[in-house]
Amino acid sequence: MTDEALLALSAEVARLKLRLERERRARLQAEQIAENGLRELYVKQRQSQLLETVATSANQASSVSAVLRLAISEICAFTDWPLGHAWLADSSGAAVTLKSTRIWNEHRPERFDAFCRHTEDRQFAAGEGLPGRVLSSGTSEWVRDLSLSVVAKFPRALSAEQVGLRAAFAFPVLVGSEVVGVLEFFSPQLLEPDDVLLKLMLQVGTQLGRVVERRRNERRLIHDAAHDVLTGLPNRALFLDRLQHAVQWRKRNAAYKFAVLFMDLDRFKIINDSLGHRAGDQLLIQVGQRLSIISRCCDMVARPEFHGELEDIAGEDTLARLGGDEFTLFLGDVTNVSDAVRVAERIKGALLLPFIIDGQAVCVSASIGIAVSESSYDTAGDVMRDADMAMYRAKTLGKARYEIYDQTMHAQAVQRLNLETELRHALQEQNFVLHYQPIVELGGETVVGFEALVRWQRTPTELVYPDKFIQVCEDTGLIVELGLWVMDEAFRTMRAWQLQFPRETALTISVNVSARQFAQADLVQRVGEIIEATGISASSVRLEITESVTMGQVEQTIRVLDQLKALGVLLSIDDFGTGYSSLSYLHRFPVDILKIDRSFVSQMDAGSDGLQIVRTILSLADNLGMAVVAEGAETQDQVTQLKLLGCDYCQGYFFSRPVAAAAAERLLEGAPSYAEAP
Ligand code: C2E
Ligand code: MG
Ligand code: MG
Repeated sequence: MTDEALLALSAEVARLKLRLERERRARLQAEQIAENGLRELYVKQRQSQLLETVATSANQASSVSAVLRLAISEICAFTDWPLGHAWLADSSGAAVTLKSTRIWNEHRPERFDAFCRHTEDRQFAAGEGLPGRVLSSGTSEWVRDLSLSVVAKFPRALSAEQVGLRAAFAFPVLVGSEVVGVLEFFSPQLLEPDDVLLKLMLQVGTQLGRVVERRRNERRLIHDAAHDVLTGLPNRALFLDRLQHAVQWRKRNAAYKFAVLFMDLDRFKIINDSLGHRAGDQLLIQVGQRLSIISRCCDMVARPEFHGELEDIAGEDTLARLGGDEFTLFLGDVTNVSDAVRVAERIKGALLLPFIIDGQAVCVSASIGIAVSESSYDTAGDVMRDADMAMYRAKTLGKARYEIYDQTMHAQAVQRLNLETELRHALQEQNFVLHYQPIVELGGETVVGFEALVRWQRTPTELVYPDKFIQVCEDTGLIVELGLWVMDEAFRTMRAWQLQFPRETALTISVNVSARQFAQADLVQRVGEIIEATGISASSVRLEITESVTMGQVEQTIRVLDQLKALGVLLSIDDFGTGYSSLSYLHRFPVDILKIDRSFVSQMDAGSDGLQIVRTILSLADNLGMAVVAEGAETQDQVTQLKLLGCDYCQGYFFSRPVAAAAAERLLEGAPSYAEAP
């Protein structure tokens, strides 16, 4: 080969080499590019895998701690960092603090134990240490070097260094902008901050926040379902549940004792009706607050998902609002009845001070029934029944007091139940009769009318008076039917007498209308029907209502009274002076007659309060243009006194006791026939 050819050849080789080299570099470059892309893709994929895992478990999680545990382990695997831990924010105190959940990654190396224990013993306030800073900033943070030099920034630096931890990062668990927890991770290597990772962790933190938020909502629902909206106290369902647990616990432990206090506010309905429902609500809230202070209650409001031992529940006190003005207090673990009595005394004392509602002082008392676990109870309902019965007794014995349940109450309750059944039967069989007591015009001592008073002919020889059965009829609603029967019978009888004993001014007939009857929507219609059916003139009819009826909703009362008046009947207020009727309303009621209660008439001896009260009622009635009937005059002195005071009418034993229809007729036969009825 010639030199020339050789030269050309080596030039060619060099050119090819160059090309080869260029191509190799290009290929390397291409490979590099491809690999980078792949790696990026790979990293991205792992990132989204992590987010997906956290999101899925967040959706399926049974508890917040299960999700935290999983997230920490996943993040440790993802970052290849050996240690992770979760804090949760506790806002029960004045300031929010972070408390250890004691949740770490599943496979945590033993050599970090000392650091873990030290961490679990600590709490961090906002701004303090790595978790505290995340708590106040709401964003993730990286600490490149945990060595002692940064102890101000990282208070656990010493114990971190002792176990060889060098770098850390932490991020917040966020619900909206609120930090509800902080997760932190540690590595034994010095590592530069990785912004991409920190950003990713913020996304994880938001996912975890969803679980916390959902859990909170669930708790709120559970809480709401078991609590009274107005007072925030446990409701009937929760109370009965607790009580049932206590009953069960008692069955297994004879030494264990509990008590239930059943409280019902006295006269609450009147307060509610006169001050309005809003004020009534305020009062209930304030009563609830006072009761919870004195009843040494620690309600488990804060931990509705409590699933502790029976024993734990049985030992807790619980104050509940059953509804309306009824409150119950469960006292877990009392030594004897006197413990419950002491609490009842404290409750009585606490209610002595007036409540301030809308700037007004309002006084309220409670009737309290106490049942203790000494009886062998099977269900919570049994305990409630007895406590309720004792409360009822406290009410009938004069209110503002407590009574302890005993067996005789049970006997009385059974008796009452039998009475109800008997009365129901008596009504079907029409075993009632009316007695008539004359109303006398004092000027001429003439009978001007009668009040019809019902009696129960229990057996052919036994006549039962209203004080033994009217209240039961009222409580059971039987009074509605009975009242209609009374009207029908009384009007019919009076119509016959009017025909038999014609007078210038027709004889009148008074009948009593109870509160329950008064509340019937069809009262006016029924009265109208009976008047028509019996043929009596409406102007001869007087309906007697007690003051407690007029104390209901004032406007509604006035409407019904107006409608009754429109029928043409006259209206009386019975037992005037004993109820709560406010004088400010009296002039608004279209009432014609006041019947002075017999307690005042019987205490009219000169100089006594009774006389003064009768005199005041007479002048009040005079001002309002109402007539007055004095009830219960038994002696000549009383009648003379009433005449002197200018009272027009009287109804009392002095003239006649209530008598059967036949006796009333004999009375009419002998009576003169002038005088005008009230
Ligand atoms: P009331 O409507 O105030 O009736 C007057 C009561 O006082 C009657 O008692 C009568 O016998 C009694 N009384 C009258 N004069 C004297 C007296 O001088 N001395 C004494 N110590 N008592 C006297 P009674 O018949 O036992 O009725 C009691 C209450 O039962 C009545 O009080 C009324 O509130 C209620 N009542 C009676 N009948 C009915 C009825 O048909 N329907 C309703 N809803 N209640 C009735
Ligand atoms: Mg009456
Ligand atoms: Mg009366």
